[in-house]
Amino acid sequence: MSQIIDGKAIAQKIHTESRAAIAELAAQGRIPGLAVVLVGADPASMAYVRSKDKTCRELGMHSVKHELPAETTQSDLIALVQRLNADPAIHGILVQSPPPPHIDERAVVEAIDPRKDVDGFHPVNVGKLAIGDADAFVPCTPLGCQRLLIESGVETAGAQVVVLGRSMIVGKPLAFLLMQKGRGGDATVTVAHSRTRNLPEICRTADILIAAIGKPEFVRADFVKEGAVVIDVGINRVADPTSAKGSKLVGDVAYAEVAPKCRAITPVPGGVGPMTIAMLMANTIAACRRLPAAR
Ligand code: NAP
Repeated sequence: MSQIIDGKAIAQKIHTESRAAIAELAAQGRIPGLAVVLVGADPASMAYVRSKDKTCRELGMHSVKHELPAETTQSDLIALVQRLNADPAIHGILVQSPPPPHIDERAVVEAIDPRKDVDGFHPVNVGKLAIGDADAFVPCTPLGCQRLLIESGVETAGAQVVVLGRSMIVGKPLAFLLMQKGRGGDATVTVAHSRTRNLPEICRTADILIAAIGKPEFVRADFVKEGAVVIDVGINRVADPTSAKGSKLVGDVAYAEVAPKCRAITPVPGGVGPMTIAMLMANTIAACRRLPAAR
C-alpha cells in the first residue's frame, strides 16, 4: 500500500506553528501584514487572491487586497508597490501572476523591496537561494514540496531526485532547495524539461520524482520506479461529464496507475496545493520578524 501524503493535514500543522508565532509577535505589539495585488479579473487568480486573504484573516494577520482594473498602467502598479514598500504595517507583498500582457512582470517584481518579497521572485532572493543563504525568501510552492517530504519522513540526503519542469516558480528553486546542504537537501538532482530526451527512462532513475509541468496526467506508470516517492505539483482543470461542474482538477501524474507503484504520493487536490498558502503565511511571518518594528 502506498502512503498518501496528506498536504491538508501538513498545512494545518504549519498553520498551528504560524498561530504560535503570530501570538509571540502580538505580545511585542506586532502583527504580520500581507498585501496582495491583483491586476485584472482572471477567475483563477481571483480565487487564489481570495483564499490568501481569507487564510491571513483566519490566522489573525493583517491582510490588504488591491484589486486593480486590467487597464492599470505599469507605472501606477509600480507606484502602488513602492507605497507598500514604505508601509510599516505591510511585511509581505505579492503581485499575483500572471499580470495582463502590457505589464512587464519582471520590472514589477524588481520594484518590490527584497525584504518584503515573500514570493521569493526578486533577483536578490533568487541569488541568495542559489548561494545557499538561509535568509533567502524561497518561492512558496517549492518550499511546500520540500516541507511535505520532511514531514512525511522521506529522506532526501543521497536520494536521486528528478524534477520535471524548470520554471522559476517551481522547478528551478526546487532543484536548488533539494541540492542544498542540510535537512531536506543533500539530494542528487536532475532537472528535466520539454527538450529532455528519454524522459521516462530518466524519471525511472528517481527515488523521488517531482512533476511540475502543467500537463494533465502526463506522468504514467512507466515513468516511475517501484517504491519511488512522487510529488505532483500540477493543477490542471479537465472536462468531467460525471461531475456537476462539468470539470475536475487533476495533477501532472496519472494517479490511478502510478499510486500502486509508489512508496508515497501526493494527491491532487489536497497535496501540494494547501502547502503553497501555508508557506506564504510562514514567509510573511519571517519577514515581519526580520523587518524593524514601526515606530
Ligand atoms: P510553466 O512555467 O509552464 O513550466 C512548465 C515546465 O514544464 C517548463 O519547464 C517546461 O519545459 C516543462 N514541460 C512542459 N511540457 C513538458 C513535457 N511534455 N515534457 C517535459 N517537460 C515539459 O509551469 P509552472 O508554473 O512551473 O507550473 C507547473 C504546474 O504546476 C502547473 O500545472 C501549475 O498549475 C502547477 N502549479 C501548482 C502550484 C501549487 O500551488 N500547487 C503552484 C504553481 C504551479 P520548457 O522549459 O522546456 O518549456
